[in-house]
Parts: sequence; C-alpha cells; structure tokens
Amino acid sequence: MNNTPPPIVEIHDLSRLFGTLHAVDTISFTMQTGQVVGLIGANGAGKTTLMRMLATLDQPTSGSISILGADAIMHPELIRHRIGWMPDDFNVYNNTTVRDYLDFFARAYGLKGNTRRDTVNRLLEFTGIPDLADRFIDKLSKGQKQKLGLARMLVGDPELLILDEPAAGLDPKARLDFKQHIHDLAKQGKTILISSHILSELSEMCSDLIFMDNGKIIKSGTQDELLQMASAETDIFIRCIGDPAPLVRWLENRDGWQRIVPLPQGASAVCTLDSDEALSAELKALCLELPILEFTPRRRNLEEAFVSILSEHLPPIPPQA
Ligand code: ATP
Repeated sequence: MNNTPPPIVEIHDLSRLFGTLHAVDTISFTMQTGQVVGLIGANGAGKTTLMRMLATLDQPTSGSISILGADAIMHPELIRHRIGWMPDDFNVYNNTTVRDYLDFFARAYGLKGNTRRDTVNRLLEFTGIPDLADRFIDKLSKGQKQKLGLARMLVGDPELLILDEPAAGLDPKARLDFKQHIHDLAKQGKTILISSHILSELSEMCSDLIFMDNGKIIKSGTQDELLQMASAETDIFIRCIGDPAPLVRWLENRDGWQRIVPLPQGASAVCTLDSDEALSAELKALCLELPILEFTPRRRNLEEAFVSILSEHLPPIPPQA
C-alpha cells in the first residue's frame, strides 16, 4: 500500500496564452503539504500569470490544476477559501484603520464575536503590527503595508499560501522579519509558493526552487541539488603575457573547457573537468606551452548557476581581488 499523501498542488501541462504570447507554456509540477517552494524568473517570465491561475483568479488556456484534491479550474469555489493570495501590489482602503481592515476580512470569512476579535488580535501579533492597529492604512510605510497584506492573507487560516514578490521594496530589517514569518508559517505546516526575481532572497526561505523563463520551467529541484549542479562548474580567469589569442585557441582545442571568453589580458572559461587533480594537470600543461601569469578559479554560486542556465553566453566573471 502506498502511504505517500497526495500532493496539495498538482499542475499538469498548464498553459496561458495572451493572444499569441505563451505567458505560461505547458508547465507541470507538484507541491507536497508543508513544502516551501520558490518561483524564480526574470521580469515577464510568467510567475504572476502562473500564480494567478493557482489562486483561481485566472483561467488557463489548457492544462489542469488540482488543489487539495479539487479541480481548481472547474470548481474554484470548493478551494478558494483554503488558498491565501498575496499579490505584489494590493489595494487597501485608505479611510480605514489596520484593525478595521482586518476585521472586515474576518467578517467576510464569516467569523463572529470573540472568534473574530481574537483572530484579528492574533494576526496583529503574528505580523508584529499590534501597535499599528489604530493607524490609518494610508499612513503606513511599504513594509508595514506588506505585514498587513500578510495578516489579511492569513485571516481565513488557508492551507496553501501564494505570495507574489512579497519582499520587493522592503528594507533589510523588514526582509528579515518577513523571512521569519515564512519560517513560522512553514512550521505551522502551511504549503507556500513564493515568487521573486532575486534568488538570494528565496534561497534562505525555500526548500525547493523552480526556475522559470519564457513561460517554461527551466530547472527545478532542492537547494542541494541545484548547488551541486552549480559547483560542478568552475569559472577560471587566466591572465597571460601579451596577445590572448593563442591562449583562447589552446582552450578551444582541449576537452574540458567551455564558454571561453577572450579578455584584454587573457581569457575566462568554465572548466568542466570533474576533479581537482584533472584541473591541476590541465593548468600545468597550459603553463608549459604559454606564458601564463595568473589563474583565478572561482566556484559558481546558485545565482550564477541560474544565470548560466539562462544564457549560454555568459559575461566573463572578473577575477576576485
Ligand atoms: P515580473 O517579475 O515582471 O512581475 P512575471 O514573471 O510575473 O514578471 P507575468 O506578469 O506573468 O511575468 O507576465 C508574463 C508575460 O505575459 C509578460 O510578457 C506579460 O507582458 C504578459 N502578460 C501578463 N498579463 C497579461 C495580460 N493581461 N495581457 C497580455 N499580456 C499579459
């Protein structure tokens, strides 16, 4: 008997066309209960379009979405109240205090009396804004509004949270607070999908990452899997005396070098040899043939690995000081 619980989110071959533009292009993935997944991609990659469909706010052109066992396309009403959606830019009602705003949403969820009051107080505490309860919303800073948006999303105690660029525009302290909120919510067992175009921001919050470009998933996996992939490649800056052309030709004629970029004082290249010993032998051979002054090896980090996936023509990485 298979005891694996069914995924909380199951997307299959999902596409969304705007005219002829494939904003989301045959995407499939699943999310398990309690997973915190980061959706990373450049501007226009399709993150918001994908998230809006998951939040049942937009209909796909084709494909299927199952959320909490329900067909989210045919029967969005069955699961909408179990999904929390935090858009990147949400409208607030300006002539309203923070407490009244949350109270309004708690009413919309059918909460009554003490339960409603306790819920609002708990969310004010959780998001760290109890002191702002009587402040008018239009007097809040960007970070304070984000906290209020988070509190609003949690009013109905949803199981699946979808946050579109929640940390954009926040200062470092507000970002730290936000990260802590995500950790706390994950501990409570929420399943969370967060988008950003800043990988470092997501990498500290998410167990898994999905990398999108042009409406498609380019790569996905756990942080460890992606880091392994990143560290499999070493970028090396090689400085030589005089004209770098012979150096570039030498690298091009060998196995184990890719993305060779000529530079004024040498070249930069990615070494794909799989051991330090092999790399050492290769560099020794190079020094025997050409007037080499300096090597500066550098492991790729996760951000650079993603850039390299995105573009086969990497700009050279400058040598470290
Ligand atoms: P960003 O990081 O800039 O928010 P994104 O990854 O969220 O970008 P989307 O907003 O999903 O990207 O947009 C994906 C593509 O679909 C873009 O080319 C965008 O111009 C286009 N698009 C989005 N919404 C619409 C719409 N309503 N009508 C036409 N095109 C749209």
